[in-house]
Amino acid sequence: MTINVFFAAGSDSWAEYQGPLGDAFAEAGLDVALSPEAPDPTRVDYLIYAPTRGEFDFSPYQNCKAVLNLWAGVERIVTNPTLTQPLCRMVNHELTEGMVEYVVGHVLRHHLGMDAHIHGQDSIWRNTVLPPLARQRRVTVLGMGALGSAAGQALTALNFPVTGWSRTEKSIPGLRCVWSDEGLSVALACADILVTLLPRTPDTDNLLNAERLALMPSGAVIINPGRGQLIDDDALLAALDAGHISHATLDVFRVEPLPPDHPYWAHPKVTITPHIAADTRAGSAARVVAENIRRGEAGESLLHLVDRARGY
Ligand code: NAP
Repeated sequence: MTINVFFAAGSDSWAEYQGPLGDAFAEAGLDVALSPEAPDPTRVDYLIYAPTRGEFDFSPYQNCKAVLNLWAGVERIVTNPTLTQPLCRMVNHELTEGMVEYVVGHVLRHHLGMDAHIHGQDSIWRNTVLPPLARQRRVTVLGMGALGSAAGQALTALNFPVTGWSRTEKSIPGLRCVWSDEGLSVALACADILVTLLPRTPDTDNLLNAERLALMPSGAVIINPGRGQLIDDDALLAALDAGHISHATLDVFRVEPLPPDHPYWAHPKVTITPHIAADTRAGSAARVVAENIRRGEAGESLLHLVDRARGY
C-alpha cells in the first residue's frame, strides 16, 4: 500500500530533499507518495518537518504515525501543544562528523594559540611561548549525547584528557564521565577548554551563569555549538572583560541571526560563527527518514525518539 508522506520542512528545502528522499525510499523498498503541498491531513502517514516558520498545527494529522524532524535540536517543537504524534529528531553520521570537525578545529585553535601567529606577524621572532601537549590541556564537554560523546572521543584520540557531563550516569571508553549537579562542579573546575553540546531545555537555560563560570579555571576558553540559551550572555561578557574567561567561540545565539548591534560582534575575545557547526545534509538525512518509515511500517521501534517530558 502507498505510504503518504507530507514534506512540511519548508518550501526552500524541498528542491534539496526531493531527490534524496525519493532515492532513499526506493533503496528502502518503500512505496511512498511524497508531497510538499498540504494534502488531506487525515491521509498523511508521516510528516517530515523542520521548524522553519511559526508554530505548526499538528492537530489535523490524526493518523500520522510519526513526525520526522530534520534537525537535531527540538526545543521549538516539544513545546508545541498540538503535537501528540511520536517525534523523532535527526541523528546521522554526517551531522556528527560536521560537529566533531568543528569542535576539534576550534579546540586546536585555542590549544595551539594559533591566533598569536595568524594575527601577530610583526617581523619579530618570538619562540619563548610553546603550547603544552594535548595531554596537558583538560577539555570538558557538557552533553554526552550523539554529538558530545563523538566530539569527546575525537579529542581523547588526540590525547586531550576529556571529562564529559550528562544528566544520567554514563560510561564512555576513554572519557571521564560525570553527572548530576556535583558532577557539573567537577567538570567545570577542570575545563581549560569547555565545549557545550547540551540541548535547550528548561533545565539547561542559563546553565552557564556567573556562579558556574566562576568555577572554571582562570583563562579558560568556551566553545558553544549547542544552543545560545545555555549561556547567560551578560555573565559571559563580564567574565571575558574580567579576564577570567580568555575567549569564547560561539556558534549559536538567543536571537539568530545575531543582531548587528549585539556586543559579541565587537568583542575582541569573542569569535562568532553563524550557526554552521553541523548542518543536516539531505542525502544522509533522507536515509534516516526512510529507515524510520520502514521501521514504522514494520511495527519496529523508531530511531531517535524524543522524550517530550524530558525535552530532548
Ligand atoms: P542528544 O543526543 O540528545 O544528547 C544530549 C546530551 O545532553 C545527553 O548526554 C543528555 O544527558 C545531556 N543533557 C540534557 N539535559 C541535561 C541536563 N539537564 N543536565 C545534564 N546533561 C543533560 O543531543 P545531540 O544530538 O548530541 O545534540 C546536542 C545539541 O546540539 C542539540 O540539542 C542542538 O541544540 C545542538 N546542535 C547544534 C548544531 C549546530 O550546528 N550548532 C547542530 C546540531 C545540534 P543524558 O545522556 O543523560 O540524557
